[in-house]
Amino acid sequence: SKRAGHRRDWHLFEAALGERHRARLRLESELRRAIDKGEFRLVYQPQIALASGRLVGAEALIRWRNPALGEMRPDRFIDHLERADVMAGLGRWVLGEACRQVRAWRERGLTLPRIAVNVSSRQLLGDDLVRHVRAALAESGLDGDVLELELTEHALVEDLPDTETAFAALRALGVTLTIDDFGEGYSALEYLRRLPIHGLKLSKLFVQGVPAAASDVAICRAVYGIAHHLGLDLVAEGIEQRSQLEFLRELGIRRGQGFLFAAGLSGDDFLDYARRLPA
Ligand code: C2E
Ligand code: MG
Ligand code: MG
Ligand code: MG
Repeated sequence: SKRAGHRRDWHLFEAALGERHRARLRLESELRRAIDKGEFRLVYQPQIALASGRLVGAEALIRWRNPALGEMRPDRFIDHLERADVMAGLGRWVLGEACRQVRAWRERGLTLPRIAVNVSSRQLLGDDLVRHVRAALAESGLDGDVLELELTEHALVEDLPDTETAFAALRALGVTLTIDDFGEGYSALEYLRRLPIHGLKLSKLFVQGVPAAASDVAICRAVYGIAHHLGLDLVAEGIEQRSQLEFLRELGIRRGQGFLFAAGLSGDDFLDYARRLPA
């Protein structure tokens, strides 16, 4: 009968849920173990004022060294953790660790004006982000305006009302909100007028081709125009060549990062690097 069929479907559904739940708990405890064993670390890529060459910030980038799998780039594991819904735990560690590092640099004489931390879409839409940010700031004693969160467009269009609520709370803490890889995902420009965003990040996808490729030049100009007219800060990523740097600087972009300056560095290497830059 139809009812029996429903009952059976429901039963299967519950069993599947239970299985997923168990798998999730298993993954969560493995993740916890990996964090406790120090398998994760952050590297810090310097952000440079394009006009003066001064250090103006850093972006924290996660690395995972697993004994069995070796060193992994985030592109290999973030999506997986997101799908399994266990990203919040790692995101919390990242926030805490990045703030601790800025504090440690301070104690060694380097005052970094800004640290950028990547936040996944699940993290943004979950209930924990604001709490985790507040905890990371309190534990490190940093002011909110030192912390910049990089969010992808994907996260913003998924649930605009929830995002608005989260953004308002983060703004209240003084945190800077930047859209990562702008133009690479969904260009749903509506969020630009609805959300209290501070800045955009010009994706390396478009930086790569300048100044030779006409389409990349046009896209960089267009993104600059959007940022400029909306009064938003613009950061360029993926600067590898002097010709790219010169193009972006002439366009009017003030802050950038890329292999031309440095890749992601350990906390100690970052300090050495910072000491060699113009004061
Ligand atoms: P993203 O935030 O757009 O970070 C920029 C990526 O470009 C980084 O790759 C960085 O190492 C790389 N990169 C930097 N300069 C250059 C350059 O001059 N040329 C080229 N070709 N690449 C450059 P990475 O570290 O593999 O990170 C990949 C993505 O993983 C990041 O993209 C970010 O979306 C995500 N991610 C990294 N760390 C975290 C994290 O702690 N939490 C979350 N949720 N996501 C993270
Ligand atoms: Mg980023
Ligand atoms: Mg990017
Ligand atoms: Mg990215």
